[in-house]
Amino acid sequence: MVEPTTIMPDPSIKKVSASGPSTLSVHAGEARVKPGFSITDPIFAASTYTFPDTQAIVDFLEQGEPREEYGRYGNPGERVVEEKLAALDSGEASVLFASGMAAFVGLLMAHVNAGDEIVFFDECYHRSREFCRRHLSRFGVGFREVRTCDYDAMEAAITPKTKFIISESPTNPHLSVVDVDRFAEIGRRNGVLTLIDATLCTPYNLKPLEAGVDFVLHSATKYLGGHNDLLAGVVTGSAELLDPVRNLRGIMGGVNSPHNAYLLERGLKTLALRMERHNANGQAVAEFLAGHPRVERVLYPGLPDHPFHAIAKQTMRGFGGLVTFFLRDADWQQTAAVIDAVQIPRIGPSLGGVESLIEQPMVMSYWNYTPEERAEFRIADNMVRMACGIEDADDLIADLSAAFEVSE
Ligand SMILES: *Cc1c(COP(=O)(O)O)cnc(C)c1O
Repeated sequence: MVEPTTIMPDPSIKKVSASGPSTLSVHAGEARVKPGFSITDPIFAASTYTFPDTQAIVDFLEQGEPREEYGRYGNPGERVVEEKLAALDSGEASVLFASGMAAFVGLLMAHVNAGDEIVFFDECYHRSREFCRRHLSRFGVGFREVRTCDYDAMEAAITPKTKFIISESPTNPHLSVVDVDRFAEIGRRNGVLTLIDATLCTPYNLKPLEAGVDFVLHSATKYLGGHNDLLAGVVTGSAELLDPVRNLRGIMGGVNSPHNAYLLERGLKTLALRMERHNANGQAVAEFLAGHPRVERVLYPGLPDHPFHAIAKQTMRGFGGLVTFFLRDADWQQTAAVIDAVQIPRIGPSLGGVESLIEQPMVMSYWNYTPEERAEFRIADNMVRMACGIEDADDLIADLSAAFEVSE
């Protein structure tokens, strides 16, 4: 006779209650007794889940007991990750998607209707804005954007049709930092939903829900996964507002496979530790760059001359691993020469993994744009974006220093 707990966790055994980000990233969402008494969660490699008899199906449909039915509606590993992420962001519920963009599209498709309008701060991720401008517009949803952190312009752009106001914080690659309290207050006062894409700060550095924002979204591909080895996305908020999002996900089908969900759960275990190092490396690299003669300007919220340093310091635990800088008197080829001379960071898009990455936004993300469009997005030819990983700051700095010399 096999004991039930060797097959399924006993839900009567309480989960850990804690509030620290390190404890939560290790334990939150996980059962204390797992199948096989394993310390780690199993990967249920299943597309479907069976019932012992017809009455069990009827009971499930009528009483909605917490169990799985079919993989497109969720899998057990995914639920663990959702609970962990909700706990980390102090939210009631999370819905996990196959990518950050799937989460963004799923959230908006669940909540906007023809005739609604969306207002964006203009430094939001270009694919998010593209989805609204090119695609939601086909369904009669209006779209406006205002200068990032211009709260008066945001307020002025809100009309009775406005359903959502959206920003990222910090923004990428300009690293503008939104005053989330003010942003949430504008939403509440005008009766519109608020969304912060907090991919760059993670719940370790800031929790927008605590400021009263309705939804927080992360590309879990970045810091949450943390190892440059998976794609995932998550939206967190109240259970009531996320219910339609979960339902639509079951129809659109952008779910995580059990294997991918496990990889994310494993990555999340070290979130707090990794963020401490990303924050420290970002700060050290930014300070080094700010003092280097070949660098014209550095954008990093942890530097006192950053336009949003005051609000960042007031609201964030740390400022992350992303550092943007501009080379002095350099055209795009001279800028590329510095990137090509760097030895430790790999050249590529993305951020938030243990390996440092470096790139020139003008080439990597805006090559097919006209110079006028690049100017509109404030993407300069001499702009470099470095996503500091968790290597030793001294090594990263020595590497950049040598690259400046070699490329001169
Ligand atoms: C990467 C990213 C996204 C998109 O996430 P994917 O996981 O690549 O779909 C959205 N927002 C921000 C801020 C990002 O960095």
